[in-house]
Amino acid sequence: MSDHSLDPKDWDQFRSEAHDLLDHCIDLMQRAEERPWQHVPEGLQEQYAIGQTKARNADLMTRLRDEVLPYHAGNTHPKYWGWVQGTGMATDVTASMVAAVMNSNCGGRNHGANYMERAVIDWTCRKMGLPETAFGVFVTGTSQATVQAFSAARVRALGSDVRASGQGGVRLTAYAAAGVHNATKKALELLGVGSVNLRLVPLSEGKMNIDALQTMIAEDRAEGAQPFLLVGTAGSVDLGLYDNLHHLADVAAAENLWLHIDGAFGAWTRLAEEPYRSLSDGIERADSIALDFHKWMYVGYDSGLCLVRDGAELRAAFTARPVYLDGKERGVASGEPWFCDYGIDLSRGNRAIKVWMSLETLGEEAFTQAITRNCRLAKRMADEVRKHPEMALAQDPVSNVCVFTADAALSLEDQSALNVRIAVELQENGEAVFSTTKVGDVEMLRAAIVNHRTTEAHIHEAVQAVADLAAK
Ligand SMILES: *Cc1c(COP(=O)(O)O)cnc(C)c1O
Repeated sequence: MSDHSLDPKDWDQFRSEAHDLLDHCIDLMQRAEERPWQHVPEGLQEQYAIGQTKARNADLMTRLRDEVLPYHAGNTHPKYWGWVQGTGMATDVTASMVAAVMNSNCGGRNHGANYMERAVIDWTCRKMGLPETAFGVFVTGTSQATVQAFSAARVRALGSDVRASGQGGVRLTAYAAAGVHNATKKALELLGVGSVNLRLVPLSEGKMNIDALQTMIAEDRAEGAQPFLLVGTAGSVDLGLYDNLHHLADVAAAENLWLHIDGAFGAWTRLAEEPYRSLSDGIERADSIALDFHKWMYVGYDSGLCLVRDGAELRAAFTARPVYLDGKERGVASGEPWFCDYGIDLSRGNRAIKVWMSLETLGEEAFTQAITRNCRLAKRMADEVRKHPEMALAQDPVSNVCVFTADAALSLEDQSALNVRIAVELQENGEAVFSTTKVGDVEMLRAAIVNHRTTEAHIHEAVQAVADLAAK
């Protein structure tokens, strides 16, 4: 190798440092329980400033150990249930290493990573019950998947001319249950549909009210709007609720709407045992599904997937082959299809390998068990909450989310203040991470369990810790 390259001058030294670092990293993963979220110290950004004298003189490996690795976000810990954050897996370490060494650009062309991505997409389509025509593309997460799926929906509604001409004066309208994740709103903003044209349909008994939906669609048609999109939620971010996806699919068929399912985490009940599996029944009728592997499939960030029932419809929204991206019959530029024709990104890394490694190492059944166990743990948390007479559940957990208030005897305002204080104190003392969400007028403690490291003992300890703080 020529010595003006940026490769290490001393490969032996690099090798030995990398081996030590790998050992250290695996130790940290193995001891996840000892490593809750750490308060970020004053001046960390300055410490990280590029090229400062200290950095140049210090041993980088020591800095990684002392200044970088300690300040993780905490979501690797078995008692982290805030927001909806995956825990990561040991296979991420080896998968990321292989991905780095290969440094594949998965936008297109003919190389192994694209075949692996297609294999993982294929598996996911089968798990979701989508037909042979289905295809998709790995993305950063459900937020990006949603934009891409809605783009395809808009092309179906307005024709592929919309790519050139823009939407013009047409008023497209979309429908989703109140409680839909903000990713839907953001995607409609980005596409120029406008979030005022997202109609939020009220819930009844935790599901989108179908009568109200039909009334809204009729009203919008009467006003000259063009309803084009129905968004179903499989696993709502606040309470883990599921729309009745069969009912939604019936309406979508009758009203000629694109049916998109936000299944960011909840789509994975497809792998769970009953009664959880059937929560997502009907997902196989979707025109598109957005889901994440980095939440309830536990793999490291980032790894989301946009799936479309008819891959050709996704392609119609994105395909573009300027001359510099011409495919060829043979050589590096062969290997159709190219992922750049199915989404926003041209250059893109190998996100599928983390999923592939975890499934090939552990087998699908291990995920069935872990996902089912997370649902049972949410139920278990609810049982623990019921043992404390001062506490109250927002509702019985439907899937993997448990929401409760620490002291229901207090005024609504005082409850909210107490719950927020408890959440913050438990985060700061390293005991457990709950986030909070508003249910009615009360901000409550919320655990979304997408954590393969959590045990029943962790659940018991965390609820007891809430009780102890509430009693203070
Ligand atoms: C997390 C989440 C999203 C957004 O997904 P990202 O991967 O964070 O972009 C959308 N919908 C639901 C229900 C979610 O939980």
